Amino acid sequence: MLNFNEYLQTNFIGRNVVARENIPSTNDLAKQLAAKGAPNGTIVIADEQSAGRGRLNRGWYSPKGGGLWFSLILRPGDFVAPVDAAKFTLLTAVAVIFTMQKFSLTAKIKWPNDILFDGKKLVGILTEMSATDERINHIVVGAGINVNIATEDFPPDIAQIATSLLIMRGAPLNEGQFLAAFLAEFEKLYINVANERGFSSVLNKWRKHSATIGNEVTVFGIGETFSGIAEDIDNDGALLVRTTVGLRKVLAGDVSVRSRRN
Ligand code: ADP
Repeated sequence: MLNFNEYLQTNFIGRNVVARENIPSTNDLAKQLAAKGAPNGTIVIADEQSAGRGRLNRGWYSPKGGGLWFSLILRPGDFVAPVDAAKFTLLTAVAVIFTMQKFSLTAKIKWPNDILFDGKKLVGILTEMSATDERINHIVVGAGINVNIATEDFPPDIAQIATSLLIMRGAPLNEGQFLAAFLAEFEKLYINVANERGFSSVLNKWRKHSATIGNEVTVFGIGETFSGIAEDIDNDGALLVRTTVGLRKVLAGDVSVRSRRN
């Protein structure tokens, strides 16, 4: 089992640890534990997931020894409204980017939640929430970070679209150190949201590392596809796309990006 405790510098994020060798999905176990009252900041981590999930129930390949497969239980009910819960996805993406910088690695964020290097996917993030109309009970943020997977170790269909920190660096990385550094960055951003009672600094940080803003995008929405220039994200975290018929606000969907900068 992964040892990250000796590197951990946080106060509450990742302090309560639920570690398993093999479970279907860390998000699913985290949701169960959250419903039973697991404390804020609890991390559920698995060596291997047999049914890791991305958005829309897509699978997430999570082999033993290949990466960090974990979920965090959050209880920000006092300062985050249910409509803002999805912004934890953006916060998590920023925390990954900041962590990578600590290891001299750079990557970009594709709206809303893909971390890309060389156009390939390094990290998947899935945020789920339990709430009433007015109040968040808990949020579960799941992340899959490909750390030590070589290209030839990905299944063939994923090898084309996936990358890992090993592939980026050309050398393996200490997963425990990386996770502890991530949890520290996450906690800083979480405290910032609590202090500011909002995500505006997080959104600004997200903008700085975006692969999407300023580029031509095609949006594969529910029931329609359209193209335009991604101008910004708004305060809701929605993508604003300038099309021939005006500005469109995209709250959810898949986006493909064509760079205009290089
Ligand atoms: P998320 O939004 O959480 O990233 P997606 O639905 O975009 O979720 O991700 C799932 C898709 O990512 C799968 O359909 C598959 O093509 C691809 N995928 C699955 N496992 C991995 C992995 N370990 N690394 C990169 N891409 C993966």
